[in-house]
Amino acid sequence: MKQRQLKKEGKVGYSFPRCNAFLIKPCLISLLVTVLFANVTAAQDRNSEMVKKIHEEALVNGKGYSMLEYLCKNIGHRLSGSPQAAAAVEWTRQQMIDLGFDTVYLQPVMVPKWVRGGKETGRIIGSNQGDIEANILSLGNSIGTGEKGVRAEVVEVKGIEELNKLGKKGVENKIVFFNRPFNPKFITTSDAYSDAVDQRVYGPSAAAALGAKAVIVRSMTLAIDDFPHTGTLVYKENVPKIPVVAISTKDANLLSATLKQGNKIQFYLENYCEMKDSVLSYNVIGELRGSQKPNEVMTVGGHLDSWDVGEGAHDDGTGCVQSIEVLRIFKTLGIKPKRTVRAVMFMNEENGGAGGRAYAKSALVNKEIHKVAIESDEGGFSPLGFSVNSSAAQFQTISSLKKYFEPYNIHTIKEGYSGADIEHLKPQGTAMIGYVPHDHRYFNIHHTANDTFDKVDPRELTLGAAAMASLIYLLDQKDDL
Ligand SMILES: [Zn+2]
Repeated sequence: MKQRQLKKEGKVGYSFPRCNAFLIKPCLISLLVTVLFANVTAAQDRNSEMVKKIHEEALVNGKGYSMLEYLCKNIGHRLSGSPQAAAAVEWTRQQMIDLGFDTVYLQPVMVPKWVRGGKETGRIIGSNQGDIEANILSLGNSIGTGEKGVRAEVVEVKGIEELNKLGKKGVENKIVFFNRPFNPKFITTSDAYSDAVDQRVYGPSAAAALGAKAVIVRSMTLAIDDFPHTGTLVYKENVPKIPVVAISTKDANLLSATLKQGNKIQFYLENYCEMKDSVLSYNVIGELRGSQKPNEVMTVGGHLDSWDVGEGAHDDGTGCVQSIEVLRIFKTLGIKPKRTVRAVMFMNEENGGAGGRAYAKSALVNKEIHKVAIESDEGGFSPLGFSVNSSAAQFQTISSLKKYFEPYNIHTIKEGYSGADIEHLKPQGTAMIGYVPHDHRYFNIHHTANDTFDKVDPRELTLGAAAMASLIYLLDQKDDL
C-alpha cells in the first residue's frame, strides 16, 4: 500500500535524463535510498499483517484452552516418573500427530522418581491453645520421617545467615523453621520469589549441617491462606538428609506467634516420601521442517511435568499448549518457516531439569544450530512481553521487533532470565527468551493444590500463544539471526 502511494507521488521511478551530469551521483543515492525505504516499508507492512493474522487465528480458532482442559482434567498432575507423566507424554505426542506436524518424536531422558507416600502430618505442640494441626506439604526430593515421625523444639530464623549465626549450639536436635516472607516491595512477584527461595532450596542442608532434625519452610507466596506450596530442595553432598516440609502462610504466622508465647514450642512431623530409582521418560517434540535452513532450529517450549498436587495448569500446562499452538497457527495460516520450528514439552523441570539438559545435549550431538528458544513457564496470564538472555547483537535484533507488538499492548522486551529448560542452550550461542506474562496472581497458586484449570483464562492463555507465534514468525524473517 505505502509503496504504491510513493509511486503515485513520484517518489519512486526516477528517470536519469532529467538529472544534470553533476547531479547523477546524488540522484543515484537518492534513488537507492528511496527504493530501499520502499522495500523496508513493504516488508514491515507484510510483517504487521501477518502478526494480525496470527492473533486473529489464535483468538478465533485457538485450540490451547481445550487442550489444557484435557491435560488438567483427564490426566491431572504429572510428576516425573509418575503414570500421569507417562500418559501426558503419550497424549501430547498424539495431539501433535493429529495436528499434522511434519515430525513428532520422543526424546528419551532418565528422570528421578520421587514419591510423596502416605498422609503427611504437622502439629504444633505446647501452645496455650493446646496442640494445633498445621497445613504442611513435603518439599520435592525430601526424605520422609516414616511412621515414627520427628518431634522436636522449634527454632525460627529468617534465613541461612541468621541460622549460621545461631551455630550448632542453637540448632542441634531442633526443627528449624525458615520464616522469611515474600517482600511485597517487588513489582513482579517472580522477583520476590527469587529473593526468598534460597531458604527453601539450600536452607535444609544448611540446617542439617548444624545438626537440625528437620526443616519447616514458609510457603513461597504473598497470599495468606491455608495452602502449602511445595517445590524442590537440593541436598548438599556429605551432609545428612533430613525431612523438609512447607507450611501454609497462615500456619507459618500462627507458629511464629505461638513461639513468641514463651513456652518451649515443639513440632511433630510425619511424612512418607522417598526417592526411588530413576526411570525412563521423554521430552515430546513436534516440528515444522524449515523450508530453507532446516538445520537451524527455533524452539518454543514449556515443561510437561508438574508437582504432584493440583493439576499443573499454570505450571506449566499453559506453556505446553501455547507451544503446540504456535506450530498449529503456523500450519493453519500456511506459514512455511525458513528454519525448523519446534514445540518441545520438556520433562522433569520441577525436580531435576533432566529434560532441558537432554535437549541441549542432543542438539550438540546432532550438530543442530539453535538460533532461538522461547520458554513459557511463568504462568498463562496476559502477555507483557519477553525477557531475553542473549548476546548484545541478538538482543538488538529482538528489540527491533518491539514496534510490531505495541498494537497488542505488549511493551516489554528486556534483558533478563529466560527459562530453566532452555538455558542449557546458552553455550551454543542460542538467543534464549522467556515469555513474560503478568504474574501478580501466579505465586498465589504456584506448586499448590490450587493450580487448577479453572484458574486459567482462555483469552489470556491465547494471547500468550499469539505473542509467542508472532515473535517466532518475525525472527524467522531475519536472515542474520
Ligand atoms: Zn514451571
